[in-house]
Amino acid sequence: MQNPFQNAMAQLDKVAKITTAKNFGNEFIARLRQPDRDIRISIPVKMDDGTLKIFEGYRVQYNDALGPYKGGIRYHADTEINEVKALAFWMTLKCAVGGIPMGGGKGGVTVDPKKLSKGELERLSRGWAQRLTDVIGPRKDVPAPDVNTTPEIMAWISDEYGKITGDTSGAVITGKPLDKGGSEGRGTSTAQGGFYAFEALKKELNLPEKCKVAIQGFGNAGSNAAKIWNKAGHTIIAISDSKGGVYNPDGIDIEKLLEHKKTTSNLSNFPGSKDITNLELLATGCDLLIPAAFENEINEKNADNVKAKVILELANGPINPEADEILFKKNIPILPDIWANSGGVIVSCFEWEQNLKKEHWTEQQVFEKLKPMMEDAGKKIFQNAQENKTSLRMGAFILALERIKEKML
Ligand code: NAD
Repeated sequence: MQNPFQNAMAQLDKVAKITTAKNFGNEFIARLRQPDRDIRISIPVKMDDGTLKIFEGYRVQYNDALGPYKGGIRYHADTEINEVKALAFWMTLKCAVGGIPMGGGKGGVTVDPKKLSKGELERLSRGWAQRLTDVIGPRKDVPAPDVNTTPEIMAWISDEYGKITGDTSGAVITGKPLDKGGSEGRGTSTAQGGFYAFEALKKELNLPEKCKVAIQGFGNAGSNAAKIWNKAGHTIIAISDSKGGVYNPDGIDIEKLLEHKKTTSNLSNFPGSKDITNLELLATGCDLLIPAAFENEINEKNADNVKAKVILELANGPINPEADEILFKKNIPILPDIWANSGGVIVSCFEWEQNLKKEHWTEQQVFEKLKPMMEDAGKKIFQNAQENKTSLRMGAFILALERIKEKML
């Protein structure tokens, strides 16, 4: 497997070449090649059978020029330091593109959480907080959920931090349950932000008023996207999860599909639709393709088959660098992850702000603040891409680097 941190640095080198005219300078780029801090911890956990198991955990604090480090905690058997470093680098850029006062960080533990009991999971999460209490905090580093970490885990970490430091504001971590200081709208914010991104550039990208949409992934990001695009009058013609997908050129009823998945655990055999594979989903002729599953799903093996007019990345890193080149040559614009899925981190930032101010905003207030932020970034990204005759991804990188450079000491 490609080292994700090398991929991230290849992107940095690419943007540095495009924008020499903007004088980012070698020293600035060199500083961005290293995280501020890269912390590895060992977390001893008493297992239910009485034995002691030691887990390896991480927190990478990449860059705090714009504010406290911010980024999720991932629990996965394959999580390792290079992945966490790459994700922390991308968070630095995402927060900058989002225009929020946050830097970039990421955390993780090498563990398959499905193999732990609830008690073991709680002791592991509290252990992660204990080891890192000195370096996290509302003004230093504000973690959040990521793959396999839940609002409940955020609440345990917030509680542990409060017990040790006396700061019970909850502002040390975001993505908490609503009754523990979470924000309204957090659950749907990634998809909602993606929708605002799509609307912001719909005209510039010559998309029709009502689009035919294909979505890969039917989890939090994908299913909420399906509901949001559908409600706005667009037609979802294909959707898939890890086991395969369904296709209906006349449109899929999303609420009924959710019911069908609940009762059968599958998308297949949905009345009125044709079953398709994930590869067929990626090759569906449509106006908009939304990858909302996992990394590298669109790669050099399948990118040439993509027939969408535009792609919007709700997943993180769904298109690998080789596929990115292929799609650029095919003139398929990509609304890049560091902008298109930044709604989640922006609303996380709102949660932090509400906790600090002891406020609770309505969902309407949350989305009224989110929309102009997504639109503002979209205009700048498009302009950067046009001016430099480059992709929207590079346009977003330029915007992020400009904002970070302005504040970097
Ligand atoms: P999730 O676990 O809720 O859903 C993932 C979905 O992808 C599931 O339906 C799964 O069946 C499906 N899937 C897995 N492999 C697939 C494959 N090969 N083809 C098709 N579908 C496949 O996760 P999520 O929270 O929806 O996150 C999805 C992506 O969005 C991730 O890359 C995540 O980092 C990114 N993201 C999520 C948020 C958020 O707020 N949830 C924020 C920013 C980015």
